[in-house]
Amino acid sequence: MSKIITEKSKKAFLDAQSVIPGGVNSPVRAFGGVGGTPIFIKSGSGCCLTDIDGNRYVDYVGSWGPLILGHADPRIVKRVNEAVANGTSYGAPTELEIQLAKLVKEAMPSIEKIRMVNSGTEATMSAIRLARGHTKRDEVIKFEGCYHGHVDSLLVQAGSGATTLGMPNSPGIPGDFVKHTISLPYNNIDAVNEVCSRRGNEIACIIVEAVAGNMGVVPPAKNYLAGLREITKKYGIVLIFDEVMTGFRVAHGGVQALYNITPDLTTLGKIIGGGLPVGAYGGKKEIMDGISPVGPVYQAGTLSGNPVAMTAGIATLEILKDNAVYKGLEERSKQLAAGMEKVCNDANIPAYHTRVGSMLCTFFTSKPVVDYATAKLCDTGRYAKFFHGMLERGFYFAPSQFEAVFVSTVHGEKEINDTIAAFGEVVKTL
Ligand code: PMP
Repeated sequence: MSKIITEKSKKAFLDAQSVIPGGVNSPVRAFGGVGGTPIFIKSGSGCCLTDIDGNRYVDYVGSWGPLILGHADPRIVKRVNEAVANGTSYGAPTELEIQLAKLVKEAMPSIEKIRMVNSGTEATMSAIRLARGHTKRDEVIKFEGCYHGHVDSLLVQAGSGATTLGMPNSPGIPGDFVKHTISLPYNNIDAVNEVCSRRGNEIACIIVEAVAGNMGVVPPAKNYLAGLREITKKYGIVLIFDEVMTGFRVAHGGVQALYNITPDLTTLGKIIGGGLPVGAYGGKKEIMDGISPVGPVYQAGTLSGNPVAMTAGIATLEILKDNAVYKGLEERSKQLAAGMEKVCNDANIPAYHTRVGSMLCTFFTSKPVVDYATAKLCDTGRYAKFFHGMLERGFYFAPSQFEAVFVSTVHGEKEINDTIAAFGEVVKTL
């Protein structure tokens, strides 16, 4: 193995830090969780990234989930180019918005009406505002280790970068803004029952990553989601599935289809934008009609429903209608997960493996990971070694233990086998 050279990235990182806080526009990109210098990307094609030094990597980050079809899929690129030529923003309605709305609705029947926004954060922020407006209640239940974007009131015991950087609660958020947020352990239905039995009629909504993907990948325990559905029904609480990561990822219809549970509201992002900035929230018509201009709950956006982003989303979702896509993804993801598990077992490295569809995770811990507390027991030092070992061999995993591995439709059998072989070498250094 020849050591990769990243001189240009190192230089760019220094330069970036002089004009951008930490040199990055989203914290986890700075490699804080694993140390070292982030690689600066020049281009992406298929399942690979090329950095500015010319190194090529098999990419398992996929822009943190959106790129289920890989980088620069020619079918998407063509449609986006055509869209750009027609003008990039109008601030007026287009038929494209209807098309994307219908494609989402078809896949997720719980979504009767949908509103497009520009990010997952906007989607969750708007969904909880709507839930509060609808129920005329203030309290929100979220779960430790779940990340719903950087919404003030949801940055409490949040996963993803907040966990990587050890900042479960961010400064800059007045205590008054989070006093209505109740944070409970994930996968613990008794905790939800206990709170709701006392305060059920004060709670506007429960927001949950129905398959958690921001403390690593943590699937819901048996009957957990059904339990949430039952409790929320009983107390008139709006159940919000945050499917920003899982929507069109774990299955065409998301977690709600996979586990057959119908939430009241769903938040989406990532895949529905086909790699462009899109978020959305949708659900029951009678709740969604509470949004302005029909209802009194205000929410707006200059670039919401942007024609270029809508086009990328439409092109992506049209391709994902073919069930064969998910069959292929399942096969490859299974192959990768099984291979990584075998490598750990053969080398006697304690690890706990999870997978739901094409989201998977190798936790470096000997105990099962079922919630935030157990996720945090992982050996993050070992993860950092794993990360750098793989990077040096041309495999780009998330620079944090508390993130998912994403497989795309263009990760072929060869790339997966190469990945497992490289991990076989790296594991000896752990
Ligand atoms: N919800 C979930 C479940 C997410 O994974 C993310 C982002 N990783 C968000 C919300 C926030 O989305 P965005 O980064 O687009 O604001």
